[in-house]
Amino acid sequence: MATYLLRNRVALLRVAAPPVNSLGLAARKGIADGLLRAKADNASAVVLAGEGKTFPAGADIAEFAAGGHLTSPTLGDLIEQLEGSEIPTVAAIHGTALGGGMELALACHHRIMQAGSQVGLPEVHLGLIPGAGGTQRLPRLVGPERAIQLMATGASVKAERALADGIVDEVITKEQNLIECAVEYAEKVAAEASMRVVSSLPVPEPSGGGSFYADLRANPPKEMRADAALAVVDAVEAAATSGSFAEGLRREAELFEALSVSTQAKARQHAFFAERQIGKIVGLGKGVKPRPVASALVVGAGTMGQGIAMCFASAGLPVTLLDSNEEALARGVATVRKNYEATAKKGRLTSEQVESNMGRIGTTTSYDDASVREADVAVEAAFETLEVKHAVMAALDAACKPGCVLATNTSTLDIDAIASATARPAEVVGMHFFSPANVMPLLENVRGTQTSDEVIATTMAIGKALRKKAVLARSCFGFIGNRMLEGYCREAIYLLEEGCVPRQVDEPLRSFGMPMGPLQMCDLAGNDIGYKVRQGLGLHEVTTERYYGGLADTLVEGGRLGQKTKVGWYDYSAGRAPVDDPEVASMIEKHSAALGMTRREISADEVLDRCLLPMVNEGFKVLEEGIAQRESDIDVVYLYGYGFPRHRGGPMHWARHGRDGGLPKLVDDLAKYAEQHPQVSHWKPSQLLLDEAAKA
Ligand code: NAD
Repeated sequence: MATYLLRNRVALLRVAAPPVNSLGLAARKGIADGLLRAKADNASAVVLAGEGKTFPAGADIAEFAAGGHLTSPTLGDLIEQLEGSEIPTVAAIHGTALGGGMELALACHHRIMQAGSQVGLPEVHLGLIPGAGGTQRLPRLVGPERAIQLMATGASVKAERALADGIVDEVITKEQNLIECAVEYAEKVAAEASMRVVSSLPVPEPSGGGSFYADLRANPPKEMRADAALAVVDAVEAAATSGSFAEGLRREAELFEALSVSTQAKARQHAFFAERQIGKIVGLGKGVKPRPVASALVVGAGTMGQGIAMCFASAGLPVTLLDSNEEALARGVATVRKNYEATAKKGRLTSEQVESNMGRIGTTTSYDDASVREADVAVEAAFETLEVKHAVMAALDAACKPGCVLATNTSTLDIDAIASATARPAEVVGMHFFSPANVMPLLENVRGTQTSDEVIATTMAIGKALRKKAVLARSCFGFIGNRMLEGYCREAIYLLEEGCVPRQVDEPLRSFGMPMGPLQMCDLAGNDIGYKVRQGLGLHEVTTERYYGGLADTLVEGGRLGQKTKVGWYDYSAGRAPVDDPEVASMIEKHSAALGMTRREISADEVLDRCLLPMVNEGFKVLEEGIAQRESDIDVVYLYGYGFPRHRGGPMHWARHGRDGGLPKLVDDLAKYAEQHPQVSHWKPSQLLLDEAAKA
């Protein structure tokens, strides 16, 4: 759909496909028809714009995934029509002109843009490159280096920078009327018969000289190592070296085709759709609406409470921090201020924003405070014992108004058990933030058996308001993420006992794409956390299962808690980068000898399998028990809570589509490891996994 209006002799064509004017078939037809109509009306120029909040923000991804983008008129057809138009065309950009939207703008003869809006070619995030001439036109406007930088990282560019780069011809202020300005601009270019055809411009020489492209491919910076980023380099080189624009376009199409069937593109597209599913709550009663949330209470001003309070304050909500310990409260607020000021130092907050965020954070040591009575949601982040949780919940039950959501940030305790301390278990829910809570994008909302639909809907809405990826889970030990992490970390210890040193465990997982290996992760989180959990569960007393804590317990008992003590599985005395520690190597060797184990060489492939297969198997158990609502939610948990590489789509997607042999081979491999390690229960396949493998 597009609206058409003749203003004097300028045809004003506005795409009308809410909410973001994506370029599905109806929008494309609207543009094609409008251009023909402008010609028939003998218009002097065409202004192409978007109705509502944005210029076309990109392709219709769902249509794209189903192949509907190939139905004519395609985006390529429109672009040809626009660029070949006999009358000047002007793109009037507001909002976000991304992907296909930006390619459309690049095909216009002129571009005018409103301050506060953005342009960009983010296809790389879907494992693709721009496929409608973007890789060929952008370098002609901004030069090959900048074009590669923008397309290989998928970065958006704000109006002022777009003007400086040469992407747009004019920027108007936020106060000016874009359509009026664009029509005026169009009248001017029509009078001058000015038509700048981007495809006929030369590609400037790279300043690095002729070997620029080869050098970049041989040594790409870290953010440019994905297949699609490297294809951007190839496509821009084709723009610079092809005999004709058409030849460059053919190369772009070839590269695009190859990428669109690639494993990485499928994984990234899976991640894109998975994210859009998380907010859908299965079986939610009809008409259930989230309650309005205007203020929050956070109990416990420790590590988590500070971060959670920051989440609310940064989202513009007043929040009160309550702690029974006056000193902890003062320390908590001081740390929050320090964190905000550090962000301001990096230029990501103004000092006014620091002050207004701090101004939203109140403190109290008393449940009698008015802010406690008035809060719409209370999140407790006190010590992790059922006794403390009961005391806090009972106090909240007595002090908070009816309708206040009573949330707990517990990582391990049962939500029903916590709720039992209140007379309103339907109001009790888990809101499991990840550390540091103000930074980590994941939030697991955990429903107890009695949690009401309205409370669930409210916590999901709070997640959104706090700009988190909120995934709904049911209660179990470790919920979705940490439960699946248990086997992953446990195998890391077994691998040490059997023959590896820490780096040999961590390196294969880093190469796989994890931001760090499991042992490095334990050092970051603090090895004492797992130690306390094992002690609490009496795990060292288990006799039938192979015990995994021995080595890790020795580590902790020797004071090696990780980064916080500057020694853990690695040495951190020189900084945060892990350095191999010969003392740890000899401790491991002694441990193996004490167990009577003959150490052996272990391949990187075995390390990957041993750590990742238990994680996936547990993922299927989580799904089969209804802990997660859907398989793709588990992937979102891992993408946003654990840094699982996006180009692999998450552990579940990787298991089905990324790993050689898919689920059937995975089942065979579980059986192989079960035979080798009969004392380890996590090799027993989940029934759901067996069923799914049989269908594959
Ligand atoms: P912490 O020890 O840093 O902070 C706990 C705070 O709670 C302290 O300031 C303490 O004074 C206060 N407190 C204790 N009992 C209280 C009571 N009865 N009333 C009011 N205040 C009380 O702990 P943390 O690491 O912030 O963890 C808090 C909760 O968050 C725990 O349930 C933990 O399992 C969970 N969690 C922690 C992490 C993590 O990585 N640290 C991640 C997710 C969830």
